[in-house]
Amino acid sequence: MSYVDEVLEVVQKKNADQPEFLQAVTEVLDSLRPVIDANEELYRKNAILERITEPDRQFIFRVPWVDDKGQVQVNRGFRVQFNNAIGPYKGGLRLHPSVNLGIIKFLGFEQIFKNSLTTLPIGGGKGGSDFDPKGKSDREIMAFCQSFMTELSKYIGADVDVPAGDIGTGAREIGFMFGQYKRIRGTFEGVLTGKGLTYGGSLARTEATGYGLLYLTQEMLKCHGQSMEGKTVCVSGAGNVAIYAIQKAHQMGAKVVTCSDSTGWIYDPEGIDVELLKEIKEVKRARLTEYAAARKSAEYHEKKNGEHGVWSVKCDIALPCATQNELDIEDAKMLVANGVIAVCEGANMPTTLDATKYLQQNKVMFVGGKAANAGGVATSALEMSQNSERLSWTFEEVDSKLQDIMITIYHNIDDAAKRYGVEGDYVAGANIAGFEKVVVAMLAQGVC
Ligand code: NDP
Repeated sequence: MSYVDEVLEVVQKKNADQPEFLQAVTEVLDSLRPVIDANEELYRKNAILERITEPDRQFIFRVPWVDDKGQVQVNRGFRVQFNNAIGPYKGGLRLHPSVNLGIIKFLGFEQIFKNSLTTLPIGGGKGGSDFDPKGKSDREIMAFCQSFMTELSKYIGADVDVPAGDIGTGAREIGFMFGQYKRIRGTFEGVLTGKGLTYGGSLARTEATGYGLLYLTQEMLKCHGQSMEGKTVCVSGAGNVAIYAIQKAHQMGAKVVTCSDSTGWIYDPEGIDVELLKEIKEVKRARLTEYAAARKSAEYHEKKNGEHGVWSVKCDIALPCATQNELDIEDAKMLVANGVIAVCEGANMPTTLDATKYLQQNKVMFVGGKAANAGGVATSALEMSQNSERLSWTFEEVDSKLQDIMITIYHNIDDAAKRYGVEGDYVAGANIAGFEKVVVAMLAQGVC
């Protein structure tokens, strides 16, 4: 049995109740086969795969807080510190009822390779809670965030582990958590990224993931003799990543005709009005029904199981920016039948494994989230640099560094795929390029 298959068998046995984690490990190790086969003896002797699939440590803790009725509520908090071979652990905090250890582990595992790809010195980690911020008052959000950070603060630090935002954790939550960390530890340090601009945040961080997705997509199209200009684009999601992906796609001359949230989706043949979407999602925190109510050209469709949603709309480029496993094999078939040329993931693992394979087999340019959405964490690392320097860079400086990073990432994954004989397979290219750097560091640092 090959080394990869042996390790996959062990990982499956040890983590049988964590389907998302198993999916991520299988996808990564499968695509690393060419590198692992070429170095099997060295990696096997040093147990590289066993070590890289087992987190350094994982914390699970109780988060008690008091709701507006005076009732004590209890949630479960998580932080998984996966691998710090190339820098302090770095990865977001997800607040969503679906959060469990398996989801946090899948995200933390993927983060190792993504962070390595950014070219910056950051390791992989992830955290969060099954707390649902929807419908909570500001006071309840603060009570939860303070309690969550009271425990989390024991395990993190500016040179140890630097969490950030993710689904459900935006500027408001980061602010409450930062305040509590400062209060408990008595130190003002860059322990979280995604901070407000008046206390150490970076300009362009809000836009970074969506903008970065488009910088990489544009570079890939350019290398294939195409551009974003005049393209029709389908985006899913209506959160941070989706909004700024739509904005940048429009700036590049494309037309984005869809977006979605957890209850429904919008088709707007005239192009999504980003300012209206921002007002509804960032300010009012309302449903997409309000978008349709305010805009004549838009159709609202209630989400229904078994239907293709945004992926049923004919487009040249699809950018899934909502959540994991939101684009399945049936959606992929629909996209291919409609002539899609590129799918780039703004979200983490939005495309199922069989859908990814189908798109690749049908010659669709496909870039996975590890590379395509790395702009967010890259800019978080730029926020860490600014905090260490105690300086703030201009929007243009950060944005231009982000562009350079995303263009470099595209070329690195393209080169890695070519080096191992899988040209055009950007999923393999991303995993290989990210993995190589981490493994060199792990080998240099001995058994740890
Ligand atoms: P947000 O919470 O800002 O937005 C998520 C959006 O997706 C919301 O509009 C939400 O709808 C929608 N959504 C959630 N579940 C579903 C579903 N089942 N079907 C359709 N829509 C759904 O999160 P972000 O934009 O920050 O993150 C989106 C994805 O990008 C996640 O996978 C995240 O891990 C990833 N990511 C984010 C980065 C960042 O910098 N923010 C960086 C890298 C990756 P609703 O409004 O109803 O909640």
